[in-house]
Amino acid sequence: MSKKKQFVEQITSMEEDFAQWYTDVVKEAELVDYGPVRGTMIIEPYGFALWENIRDELDRQIKETGHENVQFPLFIPESLLQKEKDHVEGFAPEVAWVTHGGDAELGERICVRPTSEVLFCDYYANKIHSYRDLPKLYNQWANVVRWEKTTRPFLRSLEFLWQEGHTAHATREEAAEETDRMLEVYADVVENYLAIPVLKGRKTESEKFAGAEYTLTIETLMHDGKALQAGTSHLFGDGFARAFDITYLDKEGKQQYVHQTSWGITTRLIGALIMVHGDNRGLVIPPKIAPKQVMIVPIAQHKEGVLDRAYDLRDQLAKIARVDIDASDKMPGWKFNECEMKGYPIRVEIGPKDIEKNQAVLVRRDTGEKEFIALDEIEARVPALLEEIQQNLFDRAFEHRNKKTTAVKSIEEMEKALEENAGFMKAMWCGEEACEEEVKEALQVTSRCIPREQEKIADTCFCCGKEADKMVYWARAY
Ligand code: ZN
Repeated sequence: MSKKKQFVEQITSMEEDFAQWYTDVVKEAELVDYGPVRGTMIIEPYGFALWENIRDELDRQIKETGHENVQFPLFIPESLLQKEKDHVEGFAPEVAWVTHGGDAELGERICVRPTSEVLFCDYYANKIHSYRDLPKLYNQWANVVRWEKTTRPFLRSLEFLWQEGHTAHATREEAAEETDRMLEVYADVVENYLAIPVLKGRKTESEKFAGAEYTLTIETLMHDGKALQAGTSHLFGDGFARAFDITYLDKEGKQQYVHQTSWGITTRLIGALIMVHGDNRGLVIPPKIAPKQVMIVPIAQHKEGVLDRAYDLRDQLAKIARVDIDASDKMPGWKFNECEMKGYPIRVEIGPKDIEKNQAVLVRRDTGEKEFIALDEIEARVPALLEEIQQNLFDRAFEHRNKKTTAVKSIEEMEKALEENAGFMKAMWCGEEACEEEVKEALQVTSRCIPREQEKIADTCFCCGKEADKMVYWARAY
């Protein structure tokens, strides 16, 4: 018992200090370690396995919607980055520059990609000539670098992994459809695989991507009531095409600019996963993306027949789930704690008494509930239980988000909501950036999205009192 206590004491409780709880979980569950340069991270095997499962599902859907994967360079010449004015202004403060090759100073500075729009644009300008060359539906899985001042593993790091889709189309309408389509793909992966409910909507002008005509977003709510942007899809229209001169001859032989999109999801999603489902015992991983869905812990494994039976059970369950066995010489209590810290959806306990009764014990990570199951029935029960856990995690997160969503009609009401029930706040907005600025300054709250599903909360802007017809979600955000 004393060992069990010590293990859990290694993480701060989330009620006491949520930020410290997060950092503790990330370290203790062995997701990442810190790299030697401030703000960089080493993604450890368990963290990377989690990313691979998210990546694989997303990659499957990206290909299913007609896209192809490509790989572009890490470096961008400064002159190329300068071509689209809003874009360079948006990213300049976070760019890492290469100034030397060996001992020789470079004639032109080279930027380490913070994102790859300009590389794709430059390429498309050379490759696209005719309507027959369209559409171009490319995606790349890559690392990018953004020189952030304050960093936290997964949430904000100097270097992170992501995918970035870059597409070129003949018409604006087609590009707009693509922007919607990819937002739906993101929403599907986040809701149905990560079990995190999303709000879909459009970013305001001040929160949109640098250089985009508009940005669509999926917004999620963390356990502590802060929002996290989980994925974005941007319509560029022909803005980049004009800056980079990407044109094609249409069927009538007329020269036209292409219309472009880009869309991305990053390793930040793992941060969201931790902060939506985790608890004071560690991670809770949704079964569909769990690297290990079932962990078998043999009890009294030194006794004759126990390990053999446990290995048989592993082989049997391996046909239906991602399963592992902990047959190390650690104490069972220690192993249980590790299972909880790593967030394995199901723990199976099997000891001499269970074998005698032809049964095993299943323990759910999400609720902690135990059930005895006949060994003849375990093959049918495990997949059903994994599904129940997946659904329960989504339902729980959905309920939490709804409980922490408040309609407000004034800045005072917003302040009160932040104090009493911080989360999403729905309020009418006049459309003026000045009101966004004021709320950001006063309450550190930003507009998260203008949701597709609109409600009429009041006739006037919660901030300035002028006439307002847009309902916007607001929150403090990561
Ligand atoms: Zn206003």
